[in-house]
Amino acid sequence: MNFGRTLKMGMVGGGPGAFIGEVHRKAARMDGGIELVGGAFDINPRKSKKMAKELCLDRKRCYGNYEEMIEKELKLPVGERMDFVTICTPNNWHFPIAKACLEAGFHVMCEKPMTVTVKEARQLVKIVQKSRKVFGLMHNYTGYPMVKLARDMVNNGEIGNVRKIVVQYPQGWLATALEKTGQQQASWRTDPKQSGASGCGGDIGTHAENLAEYITGLKMTDLCAELTTFVKGRKLDDDVNCLVKYNKGAKGVLHASQISVGEENNLAIWIYGETGGMEWHQEHPNYLYVTPMGQPTRIYKRGNDYVGNYSAAAGRATRLPSGHPEAFLEAFANNYVNFADTVRAKLTRTKPDGLMLDFPDVKDGLRGMLFLDTLVASAKSKQKWTKFKK
Ligand code: NAD
Repeated sequence: MNFGRTLKMGMVGGGPGAFIGEVHRKAARMDGGIELVGGAFDINPRKSKKMAKELCLDRKRCYGNYEEMIEKELKLPVGERMDFVTICTPNNWHFPIAKACLEAGFHVMCEKPMTVTVKEARQLVKIVQKSRKVFGLMHNYTGYPMVKLARDMVNNGEIGNVRKIVVQYPQGWLATALEKTGQQQASWRTDPKQSGASGCGGDIGTHAENLAEYITGLKMTDLCAELTTFVKGRKLDDDVNCLVKYNKGAKGVLHASQISVGEENNLAIWIYGETGGMEWHQEHPNYLYVTPMGQPTRIYKRGNDYVGNYSAAAGRATRLPSGHPEAFLEAFANNYVNFADTVRAKLTRTKPDGLMLDFPDVKDGLRGMLFLDTLVASAKSKQKWTKFKK
């Protein structure tokens, strides 16, 4: 980790009572090297100021909205002004805020799904390229050391060519019409204008899609999907069942659900190759199970030297010795460490190495939007099997 200089972080979203903004704040600060200096934390300027007060931030750097934030920050000298902006608003705001920040010269860390349409996602790819700024996408599950170990093992041929991928993300928290009670997180997630064309697919299906592609290096090419809305009156799907074709002949199943009573965040993946299989479970993230064909299952445990010796990326993503669990916050922080080191490399005109560049970016965001587009098209179609757009 290269702490060259402390980066100044701004935030849009993450106001009082918000979920993921506080996770970003904690994760970004975990390793030092990043300091939150201000932001436009809430759609309501009064609540934004309240948040800034709670966070003991300079009042002058708490803004009524993101446009004002950009305008006033640009008046500050480089080094004092925000280096990057984290966006953790509902989905429909990601694109306009990311575009405005990049075009004004700020690096961006954005929540997923990256946009609400493929068109916006393609535009954002171009905007990032033109801006020459760093763009990170918070697919936090790629930040787990054992996910990085899995990726490196698959890449090194430890289980042979991948034949089948089963990936799931069931939750149960939307099994009733929670949105009707005014619950903040449920309200916007079930509103197509704020969430996008798929509810459950966009909210957690994209994490499953990203995890499968990250570990295996394969790309989804076709989907055969069914989207269901179980809860009466809900405007978006709350359950996703999907068959998947990948390039290189691999096949798979992806299911995501927000009505699976009893499930919390049971993201898990099983990968079967020609000579072995492996599995990883987000709720027990410090273990990776690998079964070479004809042999007993091996349990790889985070924090042991053999993990870091095999996978430099997993080693770099580990803070504590084995047996002291690391999980969600640390995985977020790992994406921040790599993102921030890449920003520092930009600032010092040095070349970031491959380990620093190991965080999801705008191309992964476009993959997520192509996945959602295909998912919705397949669910609506009669022929079912639907190809990803180029
Ligand atoms: P939330 O409703 O808890 O918080 C959203 C916050 O954004 C609120 O404070 C709201 O006032 C603010 N906001 C809305 N529009 C704004 C605007 N124009 N300017 C400034 N602030 C604005 O939502 P959440 O659950 O924290 O989700 C936020 C985003 O994070 C979503 O895109 C979601 O998909 C993503 N998310 C990702 C993960 C993950 O694991 N990576 C987990 C949860 C949520």
